[in-house]
Amino acid sequence: MPDDCIFCKIVAGELPSERVDEDEHTVSFMDINPWTRGHALVIPREHSTNLYDVAQDELRHTAVAAQRLALKMRDGLGCAGVNLLNSCEAAAWQTVFHFHVHVIPRYSDDPLRLPGSPLAVEPEDLAAVAALLRG
Ligand code: 5GP
Ligand code: ZN
Repeated sequence: MPDDCIFCKIVAGELPSERVDEDEHTVSFMDINPWTRGHALVIPREHSTNLYDVAQDELRHTAVAAQRLALKMRDGLGCAGVNLLNSCEAAAWQTVFHFHVHVIPRYSDDPLRLPGSPLAVEPEDLAAVAALLRG
């Protein structure tokens, strides 16, 4: 574990957190600066930096824990929906470099808005970028 990782310290109990769920592989706790009521984070106990390097098994366990939490939010908080969010690298808004998924309960009157708007693209543009991704 990197000495300076706050999420590893939360897993180890060296920093306080408001835990809401845990299993052998994951810990879930309230985000300290919630975007909506109930906003939580799911992290693997094992340190990885982000989506690029998280082990596939840890990713699976994190996704399953996120689903468990989403159902608790639906049933316990009465939210109207849930967003899962992951940010990978600073360019994509990542600020804590221990892989995590935000589980954000949504309410009809909450203040969140989509962060982007669709680009106008031609079919050739889509085809060109799809070719790059197919490799
Ligand atoms: P990111 O910006 O990397 O996608 O998400 C990091 C999240 O961690 C932020 O939403 C931030 O509020 C939350 N956070 C940062 N430090 C702490 C902390 O010490 N405790 C808790 N519970 N959340 C934290
Ligand atoms: Zn860590």
